[in-house]
Amino acid sequence: MFCRMRTDTDGSSQGATASVAIARAWLDDQGPAILQEQIELAAIASPPFKERARGEAVAAKLKSLSAEPRFDEVGNLLAGFPRGATAKDDPPVVIAAHLDTVFGPETRVEIQAAGHRWVGPGITDNARGLAVTLAVIRALFRCAAEPRRPLLFVFTVGEEGPGDLRGVKHLFRPGSTLRSAAAFLAVDGSGLNRIIHRALGSRRFRITVEGAGGHSWSDWGRCNPANAVGRLIAALADLPLPEDPRTTLTVARVGGGTAINAIPTDIWVEIDLRSEDAAAIDRIESRIRELLAAGIAAEGSRSSGSLSAEVEIIGERPAGVVPPTHPLVRAAEAATRAAGASPALVSSSTDANVPISLGIPAIAVGGGGRSGDMHTEHEWFEDSDGATGAVRLLDILIAVAEL
Ligand SMILES: [Zn+2]
Repeated sequence: MFCRMRTDTDGSSQGATASVAIARAWLDDQGPAILQEQIELAAIASPPFKERARGEAVAAKLKSLSAEPRFDEVGNLLAGFPRGATAKDDPPVVIAAHLDTVFGPETRVEIQAAGHRWVGPGITDNARGLAVTLAVIRALFRCAAEPRRPLLFVFTVGEEGPGDLRGVKHLFRPGSTLRSAAAFLAVDGSGLNRIIHRALGSRRFRITVEGAGGHSWSDWGRCNPANAVGRLIAALADLPLPEDPRTTLTVARVGGGTAINAIPTDIWVEIDLRSEDAAAIDRIESRIRELLAAGIAAEGSRSSGSLSAEVEIIGERPAGVVPPTHPLVRAAEAATRAAGASPALVSSSTDANVPISLGIPAIAVGGGGRSGDMHTEHEWFEDSDGATGAVRLLDILIAVAEL
């Protein structure tokens, strides 16, 4: 698919057109400007389901390039390159950076300098991805690059936990022309090594068990939902899980009940199930349902009355893998080596999950720099390599979009 690789093995762009070489050289000097924009964007709060303010800020930047950005129905911000490229028939290469953070509206967003570091919620995830993506767009406009494949830049909503990938799910909804996209690249967080080519899938459940409830003394002997849920949790703790591909199951939250002196009418439990193997997720869901039924039956056999249960799926991120030999992965490895880093092929949960699960070649990469304490208010970023992450992203595009 990407037969005309234009970066050679030592990573120099000898084969690239003159305009792309200019873009690359210009981008190389943009380290301080990228950091500045990253800090600026991180300071605009972008809680799940409330990404619009940050989206508007990015849209204003795109308009100043005459990029003609537009918001879609769910709040994703889209911009084609060259201008109007979305209307072309050629399947595009999609480049996505998520607008949202994990932090709710109650979190005070303040970015502060601390020695070599910048500290604050979302400074890396995903202000870094946004700033690096914007820098690459600027480089393309500056040199009026003419990619053989159109590029579609998307600033997505709802990538983090509660969003459940709603932005990217909308992009690739059934019937969407993007289902035939040539490739998909998510730019997420920091780092120069990681190439996420395996989509870590997850399914999240909220299980509620209900009964008649009653007084803890006078009605004792009635079915207790807490006992049934307790049996389920104990059985899940003993459940063998596949180690390869790695699969995890976490009982994350438990709640319910009425009062200390009452048999509860309802008890709920939330479970987080993850695997790189979509079939394992389905298989273990069946086991969870069997163990729930067994827990309810066991409680029913020793007490009076009956219990009912509801299983609600509250999150779903599809799993999948792009083979390490795929030209997109190979192109990312070459660009990583050109950036002076050694490629690490890893799995994670990102916007790339959805296209990967649909068989579209997709990866996620970081935007350079170092970071830590992710998803906490003390999240930090260190600008250890300037614009290298942006140049790496451009190099991948040179290969896959044949710039
Ligand atoms: Zn992220």
